[in-house]
Amino acid sequence: MLGWEPVIGQEHVQEVLQQALAKGRLGHAYLFSGPEGLGQEKVLDALAASLSCSVNILKPCGECEGCRAYAGGNHPDLHRVVPDGASIKLDQIRSLQQVLSLHPYLGSYRVCIVDGAEAMTIQAANSFLKMLEEPGDRVVFILLCRSTQSLPKTVVSRCQVLPFRPIPLSVLQDRLQEEGAPPNKAQAAAFLSGGRPGEAQRLLQDENWQERERIIGDLGAFPGVGGARVLALAEEWSKDREKVDLFLDMALLWYRDLLVLATTDRKDLVVNCDHLPELVNQAQRYAPGELLRALESIEGCRSKLAGNVNLRLLLEDIFFTLEKEVV
Ligand SMILES: [Zn+2]
Repeated sequence: MLGWEPVIGQEHVQEVLQQALAKGRLGHAYLFSGPEGLGQEKVLDALAASLSCSVNILKPCGECEGCRAYAGGNHPDLHRVVPDGASIKLDQIRSLQQVLSLHPYLGSYRVCIVDGAEAMTIQAANSFLKMLEEPGDRVVFILLCRSTQSLPKTVVSRCQVLPFRPIPLSVLQDRLQEEGAPPNKAQAAAFLSGGRPGEAQRLLQDENWQERERIIGDLGAFPGVGGARVLALAEEWSKDREKVDLFLDMALLWYRDLLVLATTDRKDLVVNCDHLPELVNQAQRYAPGELLRALESIEGCRSKLAGNVNLRLLLEDIFFTLEKEVV
């Protein structure tokens, strides 16, 4: 799709870019900051489409050579760098440098997208900084990162920062309902996503929703499942490293909800609002201190995951804590 469809909640970003295009005062580097799922790809797509068109930069014509190349996904002036494994390496930035020394082939701009900019190694970031300091003519850099905190200040200060912000939960809920989600699911997905439309839509996909229900089924049985079940759960979840992150995220939200219910009467703050009766019931089986320990145990496991750990033992520790047994 060519052109600038409004992206809900990110009008401030679109406005800045459209004004810059209209006035012919495009910055040479933009930094899209914010957690994923806020419409970054849509805005990026619109901007890249605009910059690809050699006829009308405000409203891409869809017919010129640049537009056709962009639509075909092979515009020669469009470059995208993504992490190679866990990081963006110096070699990747160097090859970008080479490309940028050439004139644009088709459109009037070369567009360089650095996706996951926080993944740049120190060497890559230093090399990238040099490019930012001496931008070639008609080169536009677009960096995507979760937070400006995770990038070197020297890089951030050379970019115009465009913050993508979560949208109000009620607005998101309405929108999900318009898209066909039943009200209780829409509300829960809006809350769980923290106001990120892309994340909410991802959660609502059948497969992901079923996975969430499975996790809640496992967590909702505590305390009182018995030692054998604790060991079985740890074994089961440790086999699936891919899904452990989701499990831990969901476990944190679930136990946070229990703590909210155990210490306040604010049912409106419950994230897993579609499971309120079970939560209310389960909260009565814990003391607040026990819930805090559960949260610490889950959080502790999450921070240890990056290292070389025995996942099964970590999970056993969590499940025993949820079980309120001293390990
Ligand atoms: Zn065009």
